[in-house]
Order: sequence, then C-alpha cells, then structure tokens
Amino acid sequence: MRIEIVAVGTELLLGQIADTNSAWLGEQLALAGVDSHFHQAVGDNQARIVLALRTALARGDGVVVCGGLGPTHDDITREAIAEVMHVPLVRDEAIVERIAGLFSSRGREMPASNGRQADVPAGAEPIAQQLGTAPGLVCPVGNKVVYALPGVPYEMQEMFTRAVLPDLRRRMGQAGETGTIVSRVVKTWGLSESGLGELLAPRIEALDAGGSNPTIALLASGIEGIKVRITAKATDAPAAAAMLEAEEADVRALVGDHVFGVDDETMESAVATLLSLDGHSLALAESVTGGLVAARLVNVPGASSWFRGGVVSYASAVKHEVLGVPEGPVVSEAAARAMAEGARRVLQADVGLAVTGVAGPEEQDGRRPGTVVVGLAIGEAPSEAVVLHLPGDRDRVRQYSAISALDLLRRRLLAAGER
Ligand code: ATP
Ligand code: MG
Repeated sequence: MRIEIVAVGTELLLGQIADTNSAWLGEQLALAGVDSHFHQAVGDNQARIVLALRTALARGDGVVVCGGLGPTHDDITREAIAEVMHVPLVRDEAIVERIAGLFSSRGREMPASNGRQADVPAGAEPIAQQLGTAPGLVCPVGNKVVYALPGVPYEMQEMFTRAVLPDLRRRMGQAGETGTIVSRVVKTWGLSESGLGELLAPRIEALDAGGSNPTIALLASGIEGIKVRITAKATDAPAAAAMLEAEEADVRALVGDHVFGVDDETMESAVATLLSLDGHSLALAESVTGGLVAARLVNVPGASSWFRGGVVSYASAVKHEVLGVPEGPVVSEAAARAMAEGARRVLQADVGLAVTGVAGPEEQDGRRPGTVVVGLAIGEAPSEAVVLHLPGDRDRVRQYSAISALDLLRRRLLAAGER
C-alpha cells in the first residue's frame, strides 16, 4: 500500500507555517507499515490542488490531503476532490445541523458560509467532526482513495487515528496485505547515522536477502539520537510481536549500550528506571544547561521518588559559594567533579550529576564554544569528569549537553549495577 500526502495551504508555500502535519502523517504511515514515497505542499488554488491529487493518485493507492476544509472562500479542497472524482458536491443536511448545533451551544448563530463545510462530493463518506467544525472525507476514486482531513493539527491527528488508519488497515487486508503490521522503535544515542548504519549493515543485508520481513530502517531524530525502526508483518499480533522481540534482540546485540530505550521510552525515563532499581536519589548542578537537565527529568511521572533537585549554578560565585567548587577555571574537569560532589552534598543525594561548559558564541576560560564537561559522583567511587566537544549554535549545544549528561549517567549506572 502506497499513500501520498498532500498538504494544502498557501501559508505553507510562503514559509509562514512549517508543514508539521506532513511530518506527523509521514511518521504515522511509516509506523503502520504503509509506504509514502512523496509529499506535496500546494497553495489554495483549485487547479493546482487537482493536479497534486491526480499526480499522487497516479503514483500510489491513495492520498491523505490535509487543510482547506474550512468555511472561507480559499478553503477549496472539497471542490478539488469533487473535480478529481468527476462528481458534484452535495450538501449533507445532517452535517449542517451538527455545525449549527456547535454554534448554538456557544450561543451563536452559524454564519451561512459554514454551510460549505457540509458539502460532500457525491459518493464520499464524511468523517464526523469531533473537535472542530470541519468534517473529514473518505473519497473513493476508482479503486483508490482520497482522505481529506482538516489543517488544524490536533483535529487532523484525531481524525487520522480514529477514521483513516482503520480504513487503511481494512484496505490493506482486502489487497491481500493481510495480517498485521507492527513496528517498534529502538532508540540509540551516541553514534552517527553512518556509524550505526555500519553496525547494522550485515543485519540489514541479511533481512533484504531473506524477503524483507521484518525490515529495519534508520530514522535520524536530531538531538534525541537515531532511531532504528523495526517493522514486522505477520498473520496475527502474537506472531508479529515475537518477530519484533527477536529482531530487537539482534539489533541490541549489534548496537550494545548505545540503545537507551524503545518506543515511548526516553533518555530521562531510562535514567529514572536505573535510579529506581538501585534505590538511588539524584542531585544536579547545572551551569551551561541552566536547568534543562532538571526539566527533562521531571517529565518522568513519579520523579520525586528519586530526583532530589538541582542547583542552577550559572554564576561562578554560586559554584564556589553554594557548591564549594575551588577557585580556578569553571569549565574544567576539576570544577565539574566539584559541582557533582557539591550538588550531592548540598541536596543530600546518592548521585551527583553536573554540567559545565561553553555554549557560545564567546570563548570562556580559553575553551571553545561547544566544550562541555560532565561531572559524575556515584556511590563510593571517586568522582569523574568527561570532556565533550558538541556541535552547533548556543541552543543546540545546550540541548546536546543535557542529553549527553543524562546518557553518561545512564551508562555509569548500567556499569555500576553490572547490568
Ligand atoms: P479550518 O476548518 O480550521 O479552517 P482547514 O481544513 O481549512 O481548517 P486550514 O485553513 O488549511 O485548515 O488550516 C487551518 C490552520 O491549521 C492553519 O492556520 C495552520 O495553523 C494549521 N495548519 C494547516 N495546515 C498545516 C500543516 N500542513 N502543518 C501544520 N499546521 C497546519
Ligand atoms: Mg481554513
């Protein structure tokens, strides 16, 4: 099954908004095991929307089009689909009533223009709107299909999950793509995409040679590392789950402790799990990250059971006076170690983690922007410091510093627990 995405809206072409809908839809289709080889963005122009839809239908089995379902004169996705289907638009009175009801429940009268949102190409099925005024549409075009969804991201996502995905799965079943397709995402950190690719190359080749089921694919995720998506097709869910399980074990064997989690697990949840297992509490001393590490950690529900808190020791004087860092350069191994020990002492925790560094753009203590030192104090072991050279501008250096520090802590906790 090949499905293309068409995002409608002149504002996308002008760069006024980023096309996050296509990104989200692309990920969802991939996770569902549906191929999506092309994405298009097109302005609010009927002839060009028609061209985009025809092009997509010619290449694939269907299209998800988002945007242009609103009530204003530039919302013309409905008209374009009717043209592609060679059918008229028919006003659906039940939808008119629902929209009118929505307005009256807010004490307002429905403007006449909203009636357009009840226009349905003859032969298409509306997808009931739950969150906004625009219904979606499932529009058959021969044996292919156009799914029309609203542009507002949360409305689009809700409708895709509720109506489009089940319909896609049904069609895949009819097309003989029976059974189930499931995916698991194995998350890695600390390797380049090419480095990870080289580690996995023998496995990818073996899978290609063996009929490409399961498949594995790499997805770069910026600051959050690189994901390995495993997709398995099988006759039923338990069989598919068993394939995922086996493949995940193969991937882990090749990639080792660069793997920090799967699916919804995050770097902070991985750290949380290890701290909880050991019954350890954590204290932070953050300079260059200004609280980013703490903010990530408190994303984890129940963080209060292992997270004591942090000192944002941004000014050198705070490092010296609050944390007891000795005089001297504050972007240094000695300072990072003293910060970790100081945080642990001041906040009465078992483990101290510290980050100091140069976010830029200026140098500091003779060290270049991107130089970051992570300090760690765990249990009885002597504290340690690790110097990192991180790429990017100020924001990226800070984001990379936060996840790098958490990853280092994760590795040390793994090693300390001999896991
Ligand atoms: P509405 O009924 O709300 O008018 P619509 O289907 O007409 O919905 P649009 O008018 O195209 O949708 O877009 C509504 C809003 O949704 C846009 O102003 C924009 O904020 C957001 N939006 C639209 N398309 C996208 C997209 N591809 N990516 C991210 N956001 C989008
Ligand atoms: Mg609109």
